[in-house]
Amino acid sequence: MASIKQNIEQITHQIRLATEKCGRKPDSVQLLAVSKTKPITAIQEAIDAGHFAFGENYVQEGVEKVQHFATTPHAEQLKWHFIGPIQSNKTKHIAEHFDWVHSVDREKIARRLNDQRPEGAKPLQVLLQVNTSGETSKSGTDFASVSELAAAIATMPNIVLRGLMSIPERADDYESQLRAFQSLSKALQVLQQTHPSMDTLSMGMSGDMDAAIEAGSTMVRIGTALFGARDYSNKA
Ligand SMILES: *Cc1c(COP(=O)(O)O)cnc(C)c1O
Repeated sequence: MASIKQNIEQITHQIRLATEKCGRKPDSVQLLAVSKTKPITAIQEAIDAGHFAFGENYVQEGVEKVQHFATTPHAEQLKWHFIGPIQSNKTKHIAEHFDWVHSVDREKIARRLNDQRPEGAKPLQVLLQVNTSGETSKSGTDFASVSELAAAIATMPNIVLRGLMSIPERADDYESQLRAFQSLSKALQVLQQTHPSMDTLSMGMSGDMDAAIEAGSTMVRIGTALFGARDYSNKA
């Protein structure tokens, strides 16, 4: 099996090829290593390979990892992104421990994150999660509501509105993947006219990264291709 270091190199290479193919700069796409369910040792391996941005989905697990690495040599360089569904009774832990949140989809959650951000901490970097597939079961705000949500959050002093995120319905063909990502990209372009701080498009995972990059992704969230398949047997 390839090491985590080799996987990071491989994914970085794939990002370069995908950006070159559509005339973008390789450094216009950031790699977020999605470490959910993975042990401290796996994250340490990625850090040793020079990687510092990690995404977590579960509050308790994420906070434990943030706290563990807070006392390690690279603590200052590490960036922790919360990318999972948010329950309102968990916002305090997210506001206290994370640098970025990708999954804000309603004003109430944003308000709580803003109010619970500790005094003296840098503002929380927030992305609005948009439901690009129109399925009622998935989380994310719909396109019709995103501009109202952005306007409400833009007034919150402890939050910087940075962009949009989506997890499109799984599609195996490139064209369908591309269409979903392009719809998010267009929505961002519209919002940027009013909110210039929105410079980030978090889209693309292990299975659809190339299409996301062609559509303008600036941050790909990669778990499986980097850390291997996940084991959920210890999750409720
Ligand atoms: C798990 C997860 C990922 C990573 O998915 P892979 O297919 O393993 O690369 C990305 N984004 C979110 C929101 C996730 O929950």
